[in-house]
Amino acid sequence: MPVTLLGATEIRTLAAELDVTPTKKLGQNFVVDANTVRRIVQVAGVRAGERVVEVGPGLGSLTLAILEIGASVTAVEIDHRLAARLPETAAAHGVTAGALDVVDADALRVSDLPGEPTVLVANLPYNVSVPVLLHFLETFPALQRGVVMVQAEVGERLAAPPGSKVYGAPSVKAAWYGPWRLAGTVSRQVFWPVPNVDSVLVAFARDASPRGGDDERLRTFRIVDAAFQQRRKMLRQALAGVLGGTAAEATAVLETAGVAPTARGEELSVDDFQRIARAAALAA
Ligand code: SAM
Repeated sequence: MPVTLLGATEIRTLAAELDVTPTKKLGQNFVVDANTVRRIVQVAGVRAGERVVEVGPGLGSLTLAILEIGASVTAVEIDHRLAARLPETAAAHGVTAGALDVVDADALRVSDLPGEPTVLVANLPYNVSVPVLLHFLETFPALQRGVVMVQAEVGERLAAPPGSKVYGAPSVKAAWYGPWRLAGTVSRQVFWPVPNVDSVLVAFARDASPRGGDDERLRTFRIVDAAFQQRRKMLRQALAGVLGGTAAEATAVLETAGVAPTARGEELSVDDFQRIARAAALAA
């Protein structure tokens, strides 16, 4: 039996049955358009036989589109009513047993995923999209690539290169794991309820080998946070607190790293930040 997708009417009926009124707090804007969910799966290049992790499956629109092409899904949902209903919805839409695992949990805290997914595909809850992405990349090294729908400003920030206006700490931290790119815009009209922000698709591919271990990543991220907390200041001042305590000490570390002490954080690539972290470890 082929897998069938959810229609707009069925989504509202399901929500009513479950007594779910979409909440802003949980970023609940459900996609009610079959073309959109199929497009996300296609942009993600999901293939039959792959194991996909979906954060926030909600009523199952995107989940069914992933299952439709023969991939299997591990779905992490925080809303117990939605998590409990998903297997039943999937079965009613032709999904075979074993193709879907539902984890009833907060994605920010999950540390185990059944099936070792290699692809992340999600219409993310917008208030926690960056922390969820960073948590997943950090916690699940088997994840190789992904496509997520996020608020347009967040997507632009994630994919921003150094020097651009929106480049910030999330851009550098995301780039730690590999390259990101914008992969399309999505109309507000495909959601129920219609959100008051625009949405984009953003794609990432993890680098073939990790750029550094946990200690180096944490040290780098601390420096990144300090640089962007005072983004107007030159690095020798902005980083004084995390590079020894004084501007002179920060200058010495920056010079060892080959970074101009008069530069600002927004000009630096993730490679530059990593070199500063390495120089700081040498100086410690
Ligand atoms: N994937 C569905 C769709 O496209 O129609 C729903 C997407 S909706 C934007 C976000 C979903 O994430 C909701 O189902 C919400 O309950 C869930 N959610 C919110 N915060 C979460 C968290 N911390 N962990 C897991 N799921 C979460």
